[in-house]
Amino acid sequence: MNNSSLRFIALSEMQRRTPVPAEISDKKISEYFGEDVFTKDQMRRYLSKDVYQRLIASIDEGKRLDRTIASQVAEGMKTWAVEKGATHYTHWFQPLNDSTAEKHDAFIEPNLNGTSFESFNGNLLVQQEPDASSFPSGGLRNTFEARGYSAWDPSSPAFIVDKTLCIPSIFISYNSEALDFKAPLLKSIAAVDKAAVAVCQLFDKDVEKVTTNLGWEQEYFLVDEALYNARPDLQQAGRTLMGHTAAKDQQLDDHYWGAIPERVCNFMKDFEMAAYRLGIPLKTRHNEAAPNQFECAPVYEEANIAVDHNVLLMTLMRKVAAKHHLKVLFHEKPFAGVNGSGKHCNWSLSTNTGVNLFSPGKNPTSNMQFLSFFVCTLKAAFEYGSLIMASIATETNSHRLGSNEAPPSIMSVFTGYTLSSMLDSIEKRLSQDSLSADEKTKIKLDIGKIPEILLDNTDRNRTSPFAFTGNRFEFRATGTLSNCSMPLIVINTAVAEELTQFKNEVENLIGKGVKKDDAILRTIRKFIIESKKIRFEGNGYSQEWHKEAEERGLKGIHNVCSAFKEYLDEKNAALFAKFHIFNTTELAARYEIKNEIFLKKVQIESRVIADMASNHIIPTAVAYQNILIENIRGLKEIFPDEYKTMAKDVIDIIYEITGHVNAIKRLATEMTETRKRLNQIENIPERAAKYEIEVREKMFAIREHIDNLEMVVDDRLWPLPKYRELLATL
Ligand code: ADP
Ligand code: MG
Repeated sequence: MNNSSLRFIALSEMQRRTPVPAEISDKKISEYFGEDVFTKDQMRRYLSKDVYQRLIASIDEGKRLDRTIASQVAEGMKTWAVEKGATHYTHWFQPLNDSTAEKHDAFIEPNLNGTSFESFNGNLLVQQEPDASSFPSGGLRNTFEARGYSAWDPSSPAFIVDKTLCIPSIFISYNSEALDFKAPLLKSIAAVDKAAVAVCQLFDKDVEKVTTNLGWEQEYFLVDEALYNARPDLQQAGRTLMGHTAAKDQQLDDHYWGAIPERVCNFMKDFEMAAYRLGIPLKTRHNEAAPNQFECAPVYEEANIAVDHNVLLMTLMRKVAAKHHLKVLFHEKPFAGVNGSGKHCNWSLSTNTGVNLFSPGKNPTSNMQFLSFFVCTLKAAFEYGSLIMASIATETNSHRLGSNEAPPSIMSVFTGYTLSSMLDSIEKRLSQDSLSADEKTKIKLDIGKIPEILLDNTDRNRTSPFAFTGNRFEFRATGTLSNCSMPLIVINTAVAEELTQFKNEVENLIGKGVKKDDAILRTIRKFIIESKKIRFEGNGYSQEWHKEAEERGLKGIHNVCSAFKEYLDEKNAALFAKFHIFNTTELAARYEIKNEIFLKKVQIESRVIADMASNHIIPTAVAYQNILIENIRGLKEIFPDEYKTMAKDVIDIIYEITGHVNAIKRLATEMTETRKRLNQIENIPERAAKYEIEVREKMFAIREHIDNLEMVVDDRLWPLPKYRELLATL
């Protein structure tokens, strides 16, 4: 029997492992928190007072750095970095492929006299021109003019990783079109700031700035490195393309919040320490629902920095995992049949006066402000719900949405019973004209009661993609692999639009002689009515909801490639154009890129499953079949008269194997033919849409046969680590 297969080598390697100790530090976290970051404190030390103040002003106003002070900032930043041992620098940016990009340049500049010195000038800080022809650009940048420019985003501080000074940057084309996530995110943050300040001014003249906050929760799976290396599908597609479910996985709910295994905890401690050095304020760690699934979350931060910290952390986690002989899986659905991973985005807005605009306040006025922001968000979700969902639609996330406890792919908002009844009562009681002064006062008093009642409102519906959770909205449909920017860009812009309309509406009424308070209340009511269809308090997983949502006219993501079309929709394009977030060329480029990435991922998966079927599965099945045949031959020799009856079940198994093998072979050939045929389609979105249906259908069918074979073939022959092994406690 062949026990020397990669699977058994991997299993014994895993069994021999002892947990790698975590790095121990005697220091308190506060002593090394942010030590590798060019923080405001460091800026003050390394820059002249004047330069420091001008830089801070540019950071606070969200403006790009003035070239006249860039050289001095560059000099200060370099001196700080070199003193900390940095030898290289890089503009660190987030191209449109869910990763980060960096090209390192040494600080070294040769001198005329043959020696060298560390140099880094202001121009290089403000702008760089990487040879960027291989990043996704959706046709925005022809390869013959491969110029893309990266420029420092001063609102996110520079940091040092592995002796390299990393400068968070935006990435744009020669014509200033955004080629990344950060440039439009910054614009959307500015847009919602402006619109929100205007609404806040109705309540408090001291509000001058509104900040977007983001607290993400990052889910992930861990697998042993040796097992990972024995699974070509995990290596190449990031998920298992085959594998029969384990008899026991998450049914007993014994993993969620269970004790964290020592090996995993050491890994967590190590990446947390690395994160603290980089100023990432990680706060929680725990086991998630599926076996070997975990989550971490920081304290929320200003959205732009939070996004940078999230992508940086994912890089750190991958790196630190290697020390512990682990692999981090950020795929949304690495294992069929158990929970997938998401990245919840907790989103809120707060003012320079220290008010969280989604926290009910202490008096009727601040609660009117709260309600104003609340209904604008509801309306944004209603008007642009499909666009928000499209922003998180990806090939990998599509395996997760709508199954095993993942949010459904239809947008709806959960507000909680208390708020929902409050909204209903405002709608009913405040009929536009016939309201006595007494009744109005009573409504205002009721609004003033929101904080008390909210305390009892702990029922938090986990089935909703967009839930109000007391002082923030939690968007739960983002994929674990995705950059959080894209949903934030859409949410910010849509909310900016509704806030602008809200403000206009109120001013309009005031212009007609309506008192301010009444004007606000009436507008709140109008928004409640207009956004009513997006509110759903029930079970988002149920079939009834899907039917009801359809009746309400709410669109879900039925297939990914049609969801991408939201990027081309006129209403959505007008929204982005109005706030100068994306022009139609940029949207078309993103549409193209989303389709292209989708297509390539399905293509890779399809190739991998076909390779594995013919190199791993069919040979194994045939080898086992031969053993069975040998067995029958033996029976015949010894029991020439009875062997047929004796071997009946074994013969059945041989038939069963033959059936699966033939089906796999036939389906794999058909799948290749399908790909060949579809590859003739020039138009990428069209080809992607066909791949989504036709190629995936074949892959699904192949998998079923393979998973059935796994149940039949002798365990000792099976070449791939099984689900029960991949999901066994680490
Ligand atoms: P849960 O799993 O119950 O949703 P977690 O503690 O795992 O809660 O995550 C909550 C996340 O929400 C954290 O990242 C936290 O910082 C963030 N958060 C809390 N308050 C706000 C807020 N006002 N705005 C944005 N994010 C917030
Ligand atoms: Mg959460």
